[in-house]
Amino acid sequence: MDSYKEPLKALARPYRKAVLKALLFLTVLGGSLFAVLNLHKGSYALAIVELVMTAYAILVFRAIRDTRHLERWIIAYAIPFFTAMMFAMTIPRASATVHAWVLLIPIISHLLMGRRLGLAVSVFYMSIAGIIFLLRHHNEPTLMQALPIANIAVISLCILVFSHVYEVTREQSQRQLLKIAQTDTLTGLANRARLSDIFEREQQRARRYNTPMTLLALDLDHFKEVNDRYGHDTGDLTLQHVARIFRECLRATDLPARLGGEEFGILLTNTNGQQGLEVAEKIRIAVASTPLTVNNDVIRLTLSGGVAEFGPDGDTLRQLVREADKRLYEAKDRGRNLIIPAEATASLLEPLESDTQRA
Ligand code: GH3
Ligand code: MG
Ligand code: MG
Repeated sequence: MDSYKEPLKALARPYRKAVLKALLFLTVLGGSLFAVLNLHKGSYALAIVELVMTAYAILVFRAIRDTRHLERWIIAYAIPFFTAMMFAMTIPRASATVHAWVLLIPIISHLLMGRRLGLAVSVFYMSIAGIIFLLRHHNEPTLMQALPIANIAVISLCILVFSHVYEVTREQSQRQLLKIAQTDTLTGLANRARLSDIFEREQQRARRYNTPMTLLALDLDHFKEVNDRYGHDTGDLTLQHVARIFRECLRATDLPARLGGEEFGILLTNTNGQQGLEVAEKIRIAVASTPLTVNNDVIRLTLSGGVAEFGPDGDTLRQLVREADKRLYEAKDRGRNLIIPAEATASLLEPLESDTQRA
């Protein structure tokens, strides 16, 4: 699954909205102008279509002002717009130059609908336009020659290819920028922004399928001492070392993130508080038992952590981080190198602990 899909869509929205607004504005301008010209000419059917599109453009303009469904409005406008264009081409009284409008299709479709849907819509309507053109002009010998046909075909193809390549590269560069903006440069882990994006997506899934989800807050113990003793560069190496251990201990679907300094947040999907505690313990033990050697110095590390469970501890990332952080600080207070479980898990564990004490 493409984990950048939603954020990319959100990034594209403002500029797609701007393109749609420009298209609506031009429809109103062009639609009313052509309606007058066609009324004069006696092309009433075409004039009516143009007036209807003008009215519809005004309606859509108002509707998209603060819509949360821009993508739907784009389709709801582009499809009638292109269909009206096809209709104009079928009218015998329409000028032969009306076919020049076809060249707009790939540009508008790609700008408004992205590379996949844009390409599909372009190919569909350009094919229909091609068929209409051939049906209309098949008995005009000056047009039905290799050179004019090749001219039209090649220029249409060029505009289709350029629009598509532009959109593909635009999306690629936006994906790269997004990746840079959402990655912690030192450790290569996700940063807060990415954790937040992924959390939004995962919490919807957790709600829909009623699956558990857990957040771990982890913080290195006495990390300031590592910096003071071995220097900041070694401190950086230590953070990279810990990030590597996280990756080794986690599944591909878990998301480790650096929240700042030497504090980390790990989002565990499909994981309840008890399983989250097990993962946190695994990480704690791995960190404590894997010292880092830098320039013959053996650096021993430990970390403390807190577990928060989606649902019992809150529904937002902010609430979960706050609850996990509280437990993290409790772990620090209780001597460090310790994980404090989520409340629900803790109450399950307590009877066991008192049993063992009694025994
Ligand atoms: P505690 O066990 O209570 O967490 O103690 P601590 O020393 O780990 O915590 P404290 O918050 O006092 O210090 C955190 C240190 O982390 C201070 C800061 O210099 C260091 N730090 C934060 N970001 C970086 C970084 O990017 N690189 C390095 N090398 N050190 C960093
Ligand atoms: Mg610390
Ligand atoms: Mg800290």
